[in-house]
Amino acid sequence: MKIGILGAGQLGRMLALAGYPLDFDFVFLDPATEACAAPLGEHIHADYVDEQALAEFCVSVDVATYEFENVPAKTAEFVAARIPLLPAPVALTVGQDRLSEKSLFDKLKIPVPRYMPVATREALDFAIKNIGLPAVLKTRRLGYDGKGQAVLRQPQDLDAAWAKLGGQPLIIEAFVPFEREVSCLAVRAADGEMKFYPLVENVHRDGILRTAKPSLNDPLQAQAEDYARRITEHLGYVGVLAFEFFVADGQLYANEIAPRVHNSGHWTIEGAVCSQFENHLRAIAGLPLGSTALRGHSVMVNFIGDAPANAALAAIAGVHIHHYGKTPKPQRKVGHATVTADNATQLAERLAQLQVLVSASER
Ligand code: AMP
Repeated sequence: MKIGILGAGQLGRMLALAGYPLDFDFVFLDPATEACAAPLGEHIHADYVDEQALAEFCVSVDVATYEFENVPAKTAEFVAARIPLLPAPVALTVGQDRLSEKSLFDKLKIPVPRYMPVATREALDFAIKNIGLPAVLKTRRLGYDGKGQAVLRQPQDLDAAWAKLGGQPLIIEAFVPFEREVSCLAVRAADGEMKFYPLVENVHRDGILRTAKPSLNDPLQAQAEDYARRITEHLGYVGVLAFEFFVADGQLYANEIAPRVHNSGHWTIEGAVCSQFENHLRAIAGLPLGSTALRGHSVMVNFIGDAPANAALAAIAGVHIHHYGKTPKPQRKVGHATVTADNATQLAERLAQLQVLVSASER
């Protein structure tokens, strides 16, 4: 089977790495010159709105998916009119706009921090009167890794935040004094069967994910699964969905969904029986889903800006190295490592050794 992927970044690369053992081949479409999945398949090097290239993409694959949520709506419609595009484009429409995302959470009775759309400077003042401070002002579209947002702590912060972000559709949210950030990785097959990985505890710094660790027997597991089920069933979703939450007062508050495999699920490559990447491919190819059960203890650490040397990484027992083939650059995710261990103490020791290397190399 030939699988087409819109986007050829590290998620596309890891999808292909998971797919070759299942006898899948891959075609990527991505305008980037440095597309790190390109060496793992055929690369159609073209813009997402290039209809000739999209037509070539469609005739060369059996089924298509995407590895980033900012695929233009027209591109998704063009592809979906010709071949199966999974998850269906409606998931992109929702996931691309923080306002439609939050409206859907409300509609499905999933708790969400208080929010209001903001289009003008006056609307920002009005929203702050209602929501209060601290609050977070975000662009409705195209924000990622903490880009396109500003935290407002005192009234004097409003002008600077407006100068930075104003002039485009925005949303303001109450700042959640969270105890933890967790994500629920769910996979849904075309026949409606669903599986869930254990909730993942995520640690961000400067808006960028640093570590992700499966949370064993988390008291919020069943609640998160219920919320993820509401979203996927509403969207008729096929594939892996990542649902990010804040935990405050022991309760879940929805932050955002990503209609794709997700950085907080990279540990599943070594830490679960069937990885998020293989399960996404199984779902879109119509195969039975694989087990989401854990294989021992694991934690993932991102390489940000640059990566430690292989010799140092490989010297730590239980470290599994993943480089993405990307040029080092400050704040860029260039790879990750997953540490596995037989028990929590061993995991903590190995993680501490890894963290020393990662802190020294990151930029
Ligand atoms: P996002 O792009 O919305 O996932 O935001 C990136 C990170 O910024 C989150 O993972 C949080 O650590 C932080 N953040 C975003 N929104 C809020 C909020 N409403 N309250 C507190 N922290 C937030």
